[in-house]
Amino acid sequence: MKLTTKNLTMQFHNKMALNHVSVTIESGGLVGLIGPNGAGKSTFMKILATLMRPTAGDVLLNGQSILRHPGKMRRVLGYMPQTVPIIPQLTATEYLQYLSALKGLPTTKANRQIKELLQQMHLQGAAHARLGGFSGGMRQRVGLAAALLGDPQIIIVDEPSAGLDPIERIMMRNLLSELAQTRIVLLSTHIVSDVEAVASQLLLLKGGQLVFQGTAPALIQAATGHVWEYVLPQGTEPQTDQAMSEMRQATDGIHIRTVA
Ligand code: ADP
Repeated sequence: MKLTTKNLTMQFHNKMALNHVSVTIESGGLVGLIGPNGAGKSTFMKILATLMRPTAGDVLLNGQSILRHPGKMRRVLGYMPQTVPIIPQLTATEYLQYLSALKGLPTTKANRQIKELLQQMHLQGAAHARLGGFSGGMRQRVGLAAALLGDPQIIIVDEPSAGLDPIERIMMRNLLSELAQTRIVLLSTHIVSDVEAVASQLLLLKGGQLVFQGTAPALIQAATGHVWEYVLPQGTEPQTDQAMSEMRQATDGIHIRTVA
């Protein structure tokens, strides 16, 4: 499997969310899409997931345009949005059964896969519990199981660890790096430490532009010495120590400056 973006550009009114992003992603290892909030990560992923059409440019799946053939992409794609849309009244099993029916998966095969997925996500004990009672981390793992229904070869995961505690974060990271051994897994995050240990490749977006593509050590090395600079408008700097520490993690080695 090979995904290529060519001059991918997305303009919302006068805002360039993506600016001529050209990149190739291949199977074999987790790909981390990093960058601060507003960098264009979600927009990039939504276009790859065929949920949005770009203003200009193209996305090729094994050389074929997914804009012209979105169905081909959808057949091999599992997408997990930033906020997993659950139905609180359903149990984890019922929810996954409902989604696999929507996807048109054969019932017997789907039921077998749902059992396996719940086990893989460490949710076998909660298979028949209602989603409304699930913790944030459990919901995210149900969301990942939902993205894996039908065994897609490309998994796109948007900020899966937002708001999770450290143990859940590590669990999610391990699950995704396990999946990346046999598929393309593209994971976005603004927390570099979520991916640097497990990603075989990092893509750094800043202001809609791809400013780096390479391994984590190469990024850290390149970032040292203020290659990139974060400029925060005055009054928007993180207000708490935790927010500041997350910001520092997201910008590893990148100089932070506040402007009036
Ligand atoms: P990230 O995921 O890195 O936080 P996004 O892709 O969500 O970034 O957003 C990139 C930029 O595009 C931001 O400035 C955001 O406000 C803008 N944007 C995203 N979606 C829309 C939209 N539907 N309409 C207008 N502007 C948008």
